[in-house]
Parts: sequence; C-alpha cells; structure tokens
Amino acid sequence: MSSPYWSDFVQGLHPYVPGEQPKVQDLVKLNTNENPYPPSPNVLKAISDEAINALRLYPDPKNSALKKSLAKSFALNENQICLGNGSDEVLAFAFQGLLKHNKPVLFPAITYGFYTVYCGLYEIDYVELPLADDFSINLADYQRDNGGVIFPNPNAPTGIGKGLADIEGFIKGNPDSVVIVDEAYVDFGAESAASLIDRYPNLLVVQTLSKSRSLAGSRVGYALGNADLIEALERIKNSFNPYSIDRLAELAATASIEDVDYFNHCRQRIIATREWTVEQLQALDFDVLPSMANFVMVKPNSISAESLFTQLREHKILVRYFQKPRIEEYLRISIGTDEEMQALVAAIKSIL
Ligand SMILES: *Cc1c(COP(=O)(O)O)cnc(C)c1O
Repeated sequence: MSSPYWSDFVQGLHPYVPGEQPKVQDLVKLNTNENPYPPSPNVLKAISDEAINALRLYPDPKNSALKKSLAKSFALNENQICLGNGSDEVLAFAFQGLLKHNKPVLFPAITYGFYTVYCGLYEIDYVELPLADDFSINLADYQRDNGGVIFPNPNAPTGIGKGLADIEGFIKGNPDSVVIVDEAYVDFGAESAASLIDRYPNLLVVQTLSKSRSLAGSRVGYALGNADLIEALERIKNSFNPYSIDRLAELAATASIEDVDYFNHCRQRIIATREWTVEQLQALDFDVLPSMANFVMVKPNSISAESLFTQLREHKILVRYFQKPRIEEYLRISIGTDEEMQALVAAIKSIL
C-alpha cells in the first residue's frame, strides 16, 4: 500500500510486526512471552476512586512516585532513571539519543526484531554479528569500532544468557561508545548489569514491567544509567511526549515494584514450570537451547518446526515461528501456567 500523500520517508519504513493477539476463545497463548499470572494484587488496590477522579489531571511529568520506588529498589538516584511507555519506547529514545553516530551500531544477527526497525526509523547504520554455533553471543566479536552496542541479556528469541563478568569485561573494553543491555527477561534467571552503573558511564540497562511483572498491557519500561546518559533520553522524551506514563500506569507500576514477595513468587513459579517443560520436550526428542527467560527455543527432531506450529494451532495452541535463517527449524514457546504447558505437551504427543 502507498499513497501520494505519504512522505518519501514513510514509503521506505518497515514497521515491527508484533506477535499475534488473536480474539479466538480458549486459546493457549504461548507466542508473545506474556506472564500467565495476574499482576500483583496491590495493583487493583492502587486503582481507587480517588485515582479515577484524578484522571482529569495530567500525570506528573517526572513520575516521581515511580522513580522513587525504582531508585530505592536498585539503590540508584532518580536522575539515573528514565521511564517510557514500555521499554520499546525507552529503546527508541536510546536509539535516537545515544546510538546515532556516524559509525555502525552492533547487535546480534538473531535478536529482538525491533532493533533493525529503530535503525530504519532513525536512519542509523548497523552491523548484525552472527551468533556462535551454540547460539550464544560472542562479545569478543563486538570489540571493534562501533557507534554503540545493544544486545538483550538473556538474548531473545534464544533465551541464552551471558554472565555478568563477561558483560563487565566488554563494557570496560568498549569505553568510547554506549553499551545497552536490554534486560526484558533478566528476572527469570540471568544477572542484571544494573549493579555496574555507578562504575561505567557508558552502560545503559533497559528493563520492562511487561514480562516478569505481568504488566504488558500497562506499558511501562525504564532505562537505568549514568545521569548524563539519562539526561539524553529525557531530552528526547520531553521533546516528544512528557506524559508517556499515564496516571494509572504509574500507580500500577509503583504497586508492582513494591510488592517484592509476589514478584519473587511468580518468577520462581515460571522458572520451575520452564524446567519441567524442558525435561518433557527433551524426552520427546526436541533440542532445547538453555533458557534463562520465560520462553524456550526448541527444535523438534521428528517433525518440521513449521508443521508443528501449524498443527499446534489446530489444537488451539499458539507458539511463535520465525521463518528466518538458522532458526527456521525452531519454535519459540512462552512459559505459561503448569496446566497450559501440560496441554502443550499432550498436544505435541498426539501430533507426533
Ligand atoms: C518484550 C521485549 C521488549 C519490550 O517490551 P515492552 O513491552 O515494550 O516493555 C524489549 N526487548 C525485548 C528483547 C523484548 O522481548
């Protein structure tokens, strides 16, 4: 599609295509890495009549309440935190504000699809570096001239994590440009680089409440980093939309961050369900990449990935299939409840 009213720029855009959000009833939805459990019960308590009445007012453009909670939980200052409408928006600020240099940005060839979309949107050069044979990220490959480096830890869609010592070594060896660690899935078993922020002025850590906090529908993400890096992001945010976190989202996010017990309980459950799922799939002759995330990347050895994807759909189970080099024989399966994963395993048994 095209229109004579469009700018040349829009004609050439390639937007991100999110995983399906179908309206089908009774679907087991394991395709977009959402959390199967509800948000903290304190979220509902925070949405009072008073909060609804206050919707007539603009939100606090600084979102001080949420920043205060995050600052406390990470032992950082509020000026080391930038909030956004989902971490996708925070990443957009970072691509525009910190990665726009005259040298290519580096990221893995198999990773989060939004990175190439943002490079297109902000006209940033990039180089995609291949994953190692075992699908891990080899940071030694990134030790070259660059306009910034970004990778998820753990990586998506592989689920493979990197150790903090490796990440720190890389940040130290790459002092001339920003290193962004996208920690969308870090709470399911990897170690956050947030503890390194006070030591490395070139480190930006991006996290989200969408996955481990069950708030994908509320759209809250944040960047943690040196105050100078954060100021760059705030400049973009305040030139674009100072109110990107609405009042209800701020209340929900604050209540969620402060409910540490519920958070730990949910993520431990997901990790336990993941380990069960891995054992079951391995017993069914699947190769399973070692996952530190709330999903597993798996290769069925007795059926093609595409055919299994299609047949699971007929069983009303939706997983993610990427028709891409090196992973065309893999499926990415989000970790749901125990019951959902039991249904998945039963469906696979009947298909095979
Ligand atoms: C899900 C995801 C995000 C974005 O999440 P938001 O919902 O926008 O906070 C960012 N990075 C990766 C790798 C993701 O998988």
